[in-house]
Parts: sequence; C-alpha cells; structure tokens
Amino acid sequence: MSLFARDVHVVVLSSGSAGNCTYVGDGRAGVVIDCGISTKQVFARLSEAGLPDAPVDAVLVTHEHSDHVSAAAILARNMAKHRKPIPFFMTAGTARHIDQRCVPDGIELVEAGSEVSVKHLRAECFPVPHDTDDPVAWRVHLGGLVIGVVTDLGKPTNLVIDKLRSCDFAVVEFNHDEDMLMDGPYPYWLKQRIKSQKGHLSNRQAQSLLADALNPRLKTIVLGHLSEENNHPALAERAARDVFRQHGVDGEVGMFIGHQRQALAPFKLRAENW
Ligand SMILES: [Zn+2]
Ligand SMILES: [Zn+2]
Repeated sequence: MSLFARDVHVVVLSSGSAGNCTYVGDGRAGVVIDCGISTKQVFARLSEAGLPDAPVDAVLVTHEHSDHVSAAAILARNMAKHRKPIPFFMTAGTARHIDQRCVPDGIELVEAGSEVSVKHLRAECFPVPHDTDDPVAWRVHLGGLVIGVVTDLGKPTNLVIDKLRSCDFAVVEFNHDEDMLMDGPYPYWLKQRIKSQKGHLSNRQAQSLLADALNPRLKTIVLGHLSEENNHPALAERAARDVFRQHGVDGEVGMFIGHQRQALAPFKLRAENW
C-alpha cells in the first residue's frame, strides 16, 4: 500500500454562500460533500491542492439550496463522460425540491440517520434544522477517522453536538455576527430567516455548539459558511478562540477559516488503523 493511501486528505474546496464543497479521500476512495461550485472549479481546486487524480466516487448532498447543489447535473455528466458515473446521495426531500436544472443522473435516496458505503469509506447523514425539506449533515468514516461537515443549521441540537463530539476533524458553521446581521443591509425578512431556528448559526450559537462538542479527539476545526456581508473572519476566529481558551485547549486544536473563492490548503490526516 502506498504512503499516500495511508493518509486521509480533507480539502475544503469552498465554504460560504457562494458555494460549498469539501473533499474527503485517501487515494483509493473519495467523496465530495456538496457540489455548490462549478465542476471545473472542483477539479481545478483539487489539482491546486496537489490531488489532481484524487478519486471522486460519490457526492454526499446536504440539501437543495443552490450553494450546495448548483453543479450537480454538470458534475454527474462530466463524471460519466470522463471518469465513471457516480451516485449522488440525498434525502427524498432534497430530491423533490432540487432545482430542475441541477438534478443529476445517479440520485440515490437516503434517509436521515442512515449510512452509505462508498468502497471502504462509510458516510452517515443526520438531520439538521434548516429551512429546506429534510436537510442533513454528513460524517465520513475513513481510515479510523471521522470527518464531519456541519453547516446550514438554525440552532445547535443535541444530535449535532453528539455527532461532532466523536469527530477528529470538523467543518462547523460560523455564519454571522448577530449585530452585523441586524445592522447590515439585508431586508428584514432575510434577517429573520437567517436568525430563525431553521436559518444559520451565529458566531454566538456556534460558540455554544463548539463548547459542547469539544473533546480530546477533535483536533482540527474549520470555521465554515461565513457570511461576507454579516461576519468578519476576525470575529469568527475570536469567538472560537474564546471557547478554546475557556476550556484550556487553546493551541491544541487547529483552527482554520474556510473561503468561498479558494480552497484551503489540504489537510493530511494520519489514518489510525489499516
Ligand atoms: Zn448554504
Ligand atoms: Zn442552506
């Protein structure tokens, strides 16, 4: 087995309202969680990350908002033509509401709370409170590691806390600063939507989620889905840092901020058991 195959790579290709896409793979199996950036960008950013041949064996879809599925139809066609057809796992609610132009070939329905296998990789989805039909978040199990992506939720739930607690690596939503949102340019209805229990996590809510989810296993956090209008990276970073300080783990947990215009440098995680 090659050295490459022993590492699990996570690449946050894009995170934010302009598009969400995270790659998880080990050289032999790989998935993307959501495909809200163009197919061209998916592969260009993987190449820039040094993973031009990274296998993409499936897409794990969280919900039908366009920043999560805009490339689905084209990605499905592109994979079928140039590599191989791949499944797009999503709930029935997502499949019912996905914009007609984005519907991919290869939809495979999953129930929130269920698990799918992609080669030797396992992925499980669980419900999150968001204003779509049957939205989920995903955790990927690979090489003894658990990688979670939890964005687009209006409030932390016990289930989400529980799922994050046993992650080694997590992308967690830090969407907005509450004052910036309320004082900002968005129309009243949109502010209410974002603030609602089925909207997006504020920095303060994310702090509480992080505080409840912290555990020695969780080594790396990416602050994700930051609003460009209603948040500032420094505010999100300070919010997370405060939690680490309060819990005496500042410096022990790696913290990064996801972008929507470029990929984060790839994370290379050492698999635990092969
Ligand atoms: Zn989103
Ligand atoms: Zn959404």
